[in-house]
Amino acid sequence: MVWTDTDPMVSIKDLHKSFGSLEVLKGVSMDIMKGEVICIIGPSGSGKSTLIRCVNALNNFQSGSILVEGQEVNDPDLDKLELRKKVGMVFQQYNLFPHKTAIENIMMAPLLVLKDKKEDVERLARGLIKKVRLEGKEDSYPGELSGGQQQRVAIARSLAMNPDVMLFDEVTAALDPETVNEVLQTIRDLAEDGMTCILVTHEMGFAREVADHIYFTDRGVIVEHGPPATFFDAAKDPRTIAFLGQIL
Ligand code: ADP
Ligand code: MG
Repeated sequence: MVWTDTDPMVSIKDLHKSFGSLEVLKGVSMDIMKGEVICIIGPSGSGKSTLIRCVNALNNFQSGSILVEGQEVNDPDLDKLELRKKVGMVFQQYNLFPHKTAIENIMMAPLLVLKDKKEDVERLARGLIKKVRLEGKEDSYPGELSGGQQQRVAIARSLAMNPDVMLFDEVTAALDPETVNEVLQTIRDLAEDGMTCILVTHEMGFAREVADHIYFTDRGVIVEHGPPATFFDAAKDPRTIAFLGQIL
């Protein structure tokens, strides 16, 4: 069957993942359509990071299936580089190269991995700097930037590979409160441009505003999910209600 963009961009079915004898994901399923923004919330240790790391093959898994644009991620013949060109990921720790400027950080992967021409890559990187609202910071080193600014460089670096899907794993969790909003604004801009996004986040206001669908995970299962209005105002499962009660 040929994948078309009316099929799910990412389709996760009955995913099981263990680390040794510890079963971390116990049958997780979800579909994400092109242009959708989904948020995954849940207590620490519930398997959120493990789940999204499976989507770009940073984790393997024992059973179930993940299709990205119709391609099975667990297929041993899969070209992981091709997958990671399609699926960008941004982490809590942005890990920029400290001895490279903002624009050099953004240019590295297209130059080294895609082997694109330098002038084209530089034009692309300047556009991305603008997109993440960092004009004027092109030549700054990470140490000269705030946490929020560094995280926006990290997002631009990921976008430089021209992904179809972006994964965000608690990208604002390590930031000073005053810089959280600028990073959320960048993600909001991406979502408005139609980027397909899977976010693990504790920013409930943001999730309510931007997400098309919210998933609540606890101990490796999806306990409850729905559109934000239903999810936040009419949660049914006691575990969801208890979690929201703590965090809101
Ligand atoms: P969350 O992101 O929801 O906080 P994680 O997916 O990071 O949860 O972790 C889920 C469980 O898997 C935790 O019990 C964690 O200790 C365990 N875990 C995560 N990564 C590894 C690993 N590489 N090796 C062993 N256990 C792991
Ligand atoms: Mg995590």
